[in-house]
Amino acid sequence: MAIERLVEPTMASNDAEEERIEISLRPTTFSEYVGQEHLKRNLKLAIDAVRKRNDGSALDHILLYGPPGLGKTTMAGVIAHELGASLRVTSGPAIERAGDLASILTNLKDGDVLFIDEIHRLRRAVEEVLYSAMEDYKLDIVIGKGPAARSVRLDLPRFTVIGATTRTGSLAGPLRDRFGIIHRLEYYKEPEIEQIINRTAGILSTEIKPEATELLATRSRLTPRIANRIFKRVRDYADVNGDGIIDVPTAKGALELMEIDYLGLDPADRNMLRLMYENYGDRPVGLSTIAALTGDETTTIEDFYEPYLLQLGLLARTPKGRVVTEKGKRHIEESKK
Ligand code: ADP
Repeated sequence: MAIERLVEPTMASNDAEEERIEISLRPTTFSEYVGQEHLKRNLKLAIDAVRKRNDGSALDHILLYGPPGLGKTTMAGVIAHELGASLRVTSGPAIERAGDLASILTNLKDGDVLFIDEIHRLRRAVEEVLYSAMEDYKLDIVIGKGPAARSVRLDLPRFTVIGATTRTGSLAGPLRDRFGIIHRLEYYKEPEIEQIINRTAGILSTEIKPEATELLATRSRLTPRIANRIFKRVRDYADVNGDGIIDVPTAKGALELMEIDYLGLDPADRNMLRLMYENYGDRPVGLSTIAALTGDETTTIEDFYEPYLLQLGLLARTPKGRVVTEKGKRHIEESKK
């Protein structure tokens, strides 16, 4: 990745203290989980039905998709908690061989929840093992090699897979078909982000003025992870430059230092728009060309930069590529001033 960005929704923290704070901020129940009301209603219903049946059947497999940082992992934790089940977390790229998946599956217990992040990045051979595991709770494995090799079917516990992906398009059809519940997570509304910021302030025992909460909510790309990350930086700034209380001047000072503008864009977003416009004007630009211009991977552009710029209408997608819109051009001009 070219630049380490504050607004990068998946930037991993390597600090133990950060990790501890991160865990303390993660909602564990439906009532703590702000927003995504439609999803919550559907899930509550499905969970209540499983509870009522009480016949040992598991909750349907669930696929959650949408941009990073919107709360997919958090929701998996909430579901497991509400089911009174254990949660096992892994990711597509982490499961290297079919044998790795087999060992995860055979260690699950009835009712457990298996969260697979970036499920679109599962390897083919692994994906195939997952099919029958999800469909009829059976594991097909081959024991031995050469002529002595034989295939064995093992029974698996009744578990629930929660898959998360930034793009459903990259998911193989047969895999998608095995999910009973498929749901897109939406960007949050500003009042919801305000609620999340106030919740975070409460957990971290920091005083924040209502106007400052409003200001930070407008800069958080409607994404809880970014709201929390910006909040923590502003809190540091308030501790160093003031009395620790976050008011509007403090929030403004910190945002300026982070170079986050009034739309929540950071220098990397603005740079991408500017490079596209300066080099291609009104012509559509292909994804790989944009990646070459900014020095990022194409997946970084697709997953991290683009969704929010599209949502704001600064960028548009055409069959021939991406174009900077009129609104985008105005924003580039304003940013130069
Ligand atoms: P994703 O898996 O979609 O990338 P996460 O579940 O890791 O996103 O969410 C990022 C962080 O944002 C979490 O650690 C949590 O603190 C916060 N968060 C996410 N969704 C919510 C929510 N609905 N309410 C409150 N905080 C949330």
